Amino acid sequence: MGDRGPQKRGREVGRMGAEDPSTDRPNRLSGYDAIVVGGGLTGAAIARDLALRGVSVLLLEKGDWGGGASSWTLHGGPRSLEVDWDAAQLARQETAHIAAAAPHLVRRSAMLVPVLTGERLPALPGSVPHMRVPGGEARRLEPGLSPHVTDALVLEEWSVDPHRLAWANVLDAVRSGADAHNHARVEGLLREGARVTGVRYQAPDGSRVEARARAVVNAAGPWAPQVAALAGIDVPLRLARAVQVVFDRQLSGLAISAEAVDGGEVVLLPHGGVTLLGSADTDHYGDPEAPEALPDDVDYLVQAVEQVFPSVRDHRPVRAAASVRAALFQWSTPAGDLPRRFEVMDHERRDRVPGLFTAAGGTLPLYRLVGERTADAVCGRLGVRAAGTTAGRPLPGAAGVAPPARELSRDHGIPALAAARLLGRHGSEATEVLQDARRGRLVCRCEALTEAELVHAARQEQVRTLADAFRRVGLAAGPCGGAACVERAAEVLGRELGWSLSQRRDACRDYQTSAWPGRAPVLDRWGWAQEELAYGARRGWPVGL
Ligand SMILES: Cc1cc2nc3c(=O)[nH]c(=O)nc-3n(C[C@H](O)[C@H](O)[C@H](O)COP(=O)(O)OP(=O)(O)OC[C@H]3O[C@@H](n4cnc5c(N)ncnc54)[C@H](O)[C@@H]3O)c2cc1C
Repeated sequence: MGDRGPQKRGREVGRMGAEDPSTDRPNRLSGYDAIVVGGGLTGAAIARDLALRGVSVLLLEKGDWGGGASSWTLHGGPRSLEVDWDAAQLARQETAHIAAAAPHLVRRSAMLVPVLTGERLPALPGSVPHMRVPGGEARRLEPGLSPHVTDALVLEEWSVDPHRLAWANVLDAVRSGADAHNHARVEGLLREGARVTGVRYQAPDGSRVEARARAVVNAAGPWAPQVAALAGIDVPLRLARAVQVVFDRQLSGLAISAEAVDGGEVVLLPHGGVTLLGSADTDHYGDPEAPEALPDDVDYLVQAVEQVFPSVRDHRPVRAAASVRAALFQWSTPAGDLPRRFEVMDHERRDRVPGLFTAAGGTLPLYRLVGERTADAVCGRLGVRAAGTTAGRPLPGAAGVAPPARELSRDHGIPALAAARLLGRHGSEATEVLQDARRGRLVCRCEALTEAELVHAARQEQVRTLADAFRRVGLAAGPCGGAACVERAAEVLGRELGWSLSQRRDACRDYQTSAWPGRAPVLDRWGWAQEELAYGARRGWPVGL
């Protein structure tokens, strides 16, 4: 174990931000037990697990917490049972842990797997509990189903907000003593001979920092090969680009699985006030940084679900999101069928590079288990005996009893919808968010986000940009897509973060620029006309378009 306690170290890192970013000399931090590179679900879970065992941890994320994750389903549909039975069984167990640890972040729904004339029901002997219903009964459950549906399986499905889940893990890690910085990119590994002894990173204020640790954990997801290469190590992964289309309302109360033209599995999934349709998985060869969603991806997904749920065409998607996922390398497998299992690599054993570990592969529901197994490996090397405790531990927002939305709305004078959204993000900690005097004012009517929540996000949740606010509190996630709210949000956030008038304007433009690749693929000709009007009213298109 390191010689100084995490609390003390936390203050040290707090001071670091005040140093002069213009100097070329890096700041030097010493004495963490472990540094975790990557603040997706995997890295956040590793940092949380280690911190709870009393290990001093620094967690670094180059973008925002959970910014790389795109999955919202916990089971992943019937195909996941065929692709990787063992991982699917583990995922079932872990889903129960997630639902218990963060009930406010998950939604339970039935999933319909409709079968069309001429097709056969998939055989699921000995698998997850399910029911088989005739087409007529399936249409009573979901009247929008095609008349050609002859039968359907009904399974249980769960969805989760991956961004809030990642943040909840980071928050629990910090409350347990970890230091955690988003917008902090690891640029190099420190070495003493073969041993990795720390990292060099660019801090959020632009300064260069060297931090030392006895163990460095590479949890960089699709970037894991790049991080491993900094130590001259090859970590072969297969990258897949996944695309999701988002509708701004619930199209059905049920999740619906469908088969795409190439046999790939597509799922329409309600979550809170939106519906997600995904995913189109294809191999990805470029930089994981900027995957693109194309109009063809949107057509592919809508065409697939239309076969069993034709009324999907009556609704207009508001955006599409592309992300890159990393699976353990396997040749001769379609991208959507890549293995879901994970591996914890101890590079001392594997490559004779002591001090470095990599956690790779896995699926969203396995994230806690990956965290635990990685922490086991790290603790084994550090000589820490404490066992993992995350399996039965509630995440922030799940420890107390959340007030009913009606009560929260009445007591704090906020619309019931805003109260419901707040509870869905903060659970039992929702009341603390509303302590600010401006609690009742809405930033956005369509997404019912209050100013108080945005202020809280800036003060307590490391929200540094408008895009961070999208992930953390759903800014611009509603039908307006930001047209009605980003300027107001920039004002509120800008006050908290000390932005000048021109910085607020830049923040809006940066947001529009970053949101554009997700909007363009879903626009039809009327959408394009409205978009042009909106940008015309704002005197110009965002820089770079
Ligand atoms: C084909 C395929 C299909 C899948 N389908 C499903 C599914 O249906 N359901 C499901 O549950 N899961 C699915 N998954 C898995 C799921 O996407 C991941 O398990 C989940 O997103 C967790 O990812 P992660 O934290 O490991 O990586 P990420 O979320 O990508 O996090 C890695 C983080 O590291 C950061 N980072 C990278 N480099 C640096 C650096 N130098 N410095 C600092 N930070 C850095 C990145 O910014 C990123 O935030 C699928 C995966 C694949 C490959």
